[in-house]
Amino acid sequence: MNQDLLRKIPKTDVLLARPGLAQVKSVSASGLKREVQEYLQQLRSSILAGEVSQVPDMEQIEQEILNRLQETDPFHLKRVINATGVVLHTNLGRAPLGAEAAKHIAEVAQSYCNLEYKLEAGKRGSRYAHVENLLCKLTGAEAAMVVNNNAAAVFLMLNTLAKGKKVAISRGELVEIGGSFRVPEIMEQSGAQLVEVGTTNKTHPEDYAEAVEEKEASVLLKVHTSNFNIVGFTESVSVRQMSEIAKDTGAMVLYDVGSCFLFPREYMGLHDGEMVSQALRDGADVVCLSGDKLMGSAQGGILVGKKELIERMKKNHLTRMLRIDKLSLAALEIALRHCLDPKEAVREIPTLRMLSMSRETCQDRAEKLAQGLKKAAPSLRIETVLTEDEVGGGSLPGVMLPGCAVAVSSLEGSTEGIEPFLRLRKIPIISRVWKDQVLLSPRTLCDGDEEELVAAFTELEQQISEERKKR
Ligand SMILES: *Cc1c(COP(=O)(O)O)cnc(C)c1O
Repeated sequence: MNQDLLRKIPKTDVLLARPGLAQVKSVSASGLKREVQEYLQQLRSSILAGEVSQVPDMEQIEQEILNRLQETDPFHLKRVINATGVVLHTNLGRAPLGAEAAKHIAEVAQSYCNLEYKLEAGKRGSRYAHVENLLCKLTGAEAAMVVNNNAAAVFLMLNTLAKGKKVAISRGELVEIGGSFRVPEIMEQSGAQLVEVGTTNKTHPEDYAEAVEEKEASVLLKVHTSNFNIVGFTESVSVRQMSEIAKDTGAMVLYDVGSCFLFPREYMGLHDGEMVSQALRDGADVVCLSGDKLMGSAQGGILVGKKELIERMKKNHLTRMLRIDKLSLAALEIALRHCLDPKEAVREIPTLRMLSMSRETCQDRAEKLAQGLKKAAPSLRIETVLTEDEVGGGSLPGVMLPGCAVAVSSLEGSTEGIEPFLRLRKIPIISRVWKDQVLLSPRTLCDGDEEELVAAFTELEQQISEERKKR
């Protein structure tokens, strides 16, 4: 009896050739085969255990496998759609990369590469060689290097150049920058001795001069207060002023700018945001910044400045622990190449393109998206509203980007169920809820996201009509 049933089980290849399964795109061909084999194996076991007295027909088996594919999510870390209008969304992976960068990374990943190999000499080379000249060209620095992230860059900079030394820093810059990166703790762990100057809201040039002259500070550190603004009765000292004090006394000026542009912010139509080359011209000895904030590239900590100081950092044994990986390096090189031509950079680097998107463009895209979504989900109230989008990522605090979003609510004017429905899909859509509306900002959408939004609203409409039938 069992044998008869077992004989009725279809072959894997026959199933794979069926139209429904042949069209599956959500898993690879080998993944699909595994899924089919697993299903058939379980069916076999159930038959042998006497739990099954009939083999389902071919259509049924195909449908059951398709259903299982729907339920199994192949990856935990996966693509999501950022419809929040927050460009550098830290929880959503900060900067998305462009198609060209992704292609280049894939190419480097799929084969060996000259990561630490000098092709001309046929000898061991340096992993910094791939980006150092580009960084120098773009920032005017004498030398450059890159580590795993900017937190690592700050630590390496302090540990190499300020260990055992007194480091003057404004009380207004003793900040915490998300995810347990606290400047006072980092300084202590790096071996630098903290000399606090000024007050939380006001620090004057004389405060640094006093720290150097009376407290023997030999390093002046500036840290960009990335995630907040002190407004009102405030005063801080610029890198230029700090370097003037340093020049007279032989002290060193280090600047953790966090996020920075490589070319003038005007190309993005912004009125705020610093440029690395300016910080160096103003007299900073070393500047460090993140690769995946305003540069819009991969995670990385970029260090630029005086050759002698950068060389000392390269020799620090810590660099072995803090080093950047080859895929990030590949992404970084391509971003830097784009930046040689600012117009190309704004076109090719998604973060820069999103930052530079005008309200008119946002409005056009929101109108178009709203039309598509209305068609897909006529049971919802869908309109457009003007918004203030954000740079995010602790980059330009207080800078708002005039934008426009699609606002969605039920016909009764509630958001109930809409936000979680979008968030819990296979390709999750992350939105903002604001005043009983779910907001979807076109600014932060990537290629292909709009189609996915329409698909989601089609599913949502289906769910709404099914629920209506039940009532
Ligand atoms: C973001 C930031 C850091 C940390 O950089 P990561 O790349 O996230 O490690 C350090 N300092 C400042 C000023 C920052 O803005």
